[in-house]
Amino acid sequence: MKIILLLSTALLLHLSAVSRQQPAFYNTTGHYWQLADTLQAGRKPSSALWHTWFDDGIGRWLTGTGHIDSVTFVQDMFRIYMPGSDTGTLSESAAYHLEYRKKAAWIKATAPGLEQPAVRTAMKKALYPCLPPRLRQDTLLPTLVYTFMGFSDATSVQQFVIMDMLLACQLHTYAPGLLAAHEAFHSITGRSFHGSRFNATIATPQEQYLLLFLSNVSQEGIADQIDKPVLLQRSSPVYDAWQDLYHDEARQSRQCIRQLDSLLQQAATHTIDISYQDLFNGYAVNGGHIPGRYMCSIIRQSGRWQELLQQADDPLAFMLLYQRAASREQGKFSKESAAYLQRLQQKLILPVK
Ligand SMILES: [Zn+2]
Repeated sequence: MKIILLLSTALLLHLSAVSRQQPAFYNTTGHYWQLADTLQAGRKPSSALWHTWFDDGIGRWLTGTGHIDSVTFVQDMFRIYMPGSDTGTLSESAAYHLEYRKKAAWIKATAPGLEQPAVRTAMKKALYPCLPPRLRQDTLLPTLVYTFMGFSDATSVQQFVIMDMLLACQLHTYAPGLLAAHEAFHSITGRSFHGSRFNATIATPQEQYLLLFLSNVSQEGIADQIDKPVLLQRSSPVYDAWQDLYHDEARQSRQCIRQLDSLLQQAATHTIDISYQDLFNGYAVNGGHIPGRYMCSIIRQSGRWQELLQQADDPLAFMLLYQRAASREQGKFSKESAAYLQRLQQKLILPVK
């Protein structure tokens, strides 16, 4: 947690230096292509050129968070872009560079469209109906960052949405702004939760981990209502890859809810020794999308969607609304767990100012 905060502060300082105001877009793939073009011309990039990539705020964030290993990155770049090198059996990381090499002309032609005001307009159009009115403020919108992430991925860090350029291009041709809208939801509600709703100073370590975990589950649940109805259509360019992520979703979700219920029952009466990582590995699948999307869909089907959105930055409101919405067959928490969640909400969630 600490290292991520430090790295995101470095990112913020770097991007603030780029523009006095927070920029609308930031793109570091130009540095990547400079390295690739030099290698393809049969020359070794100078150390200054490598530094341009690695010392950029995004480069430091990518290596610091483990998205990219710097030694592997250099080796992969030589292997994929230097003429005459063997591209037979490739590691996963090298294979992703090869995707970039094969699609280079198309990515370069598509990329300028990603930095158009229309993308932010489309993002807002998809995002704002899923935020409470108090958070629908243009000043809260994150910078959209495009880069080579090492694999098909997107994430949000404070006021930045970081997207892999290839993935962003693929989705841009199908549904502009939609990937950014999902991540912007995390960015905005995450800042609101940490900044003004979660009274972390009085939380025990157990409560802190639980709240962070539940915040992730509830955020994924709501954010998936923004993009998944479109991006999981059969015509979507990510249909096959993303469909797998939700395989057997209802059964897996009910299982996560059962396990979480046992944990909450214990936590209600004892101090439990569990880390943030344990929670992610044992009580959710795919980073919280399971059971988040399943739970949110049940809240929505029960007619409580607008009620949920008013408290989109309160994970305990999400849990308690789910408890009211779900049938026993869909997977309900026990009375003890529900009472504990209520106590946590009363203790740790601050009212909207
Ligand atoms: Zn997400």
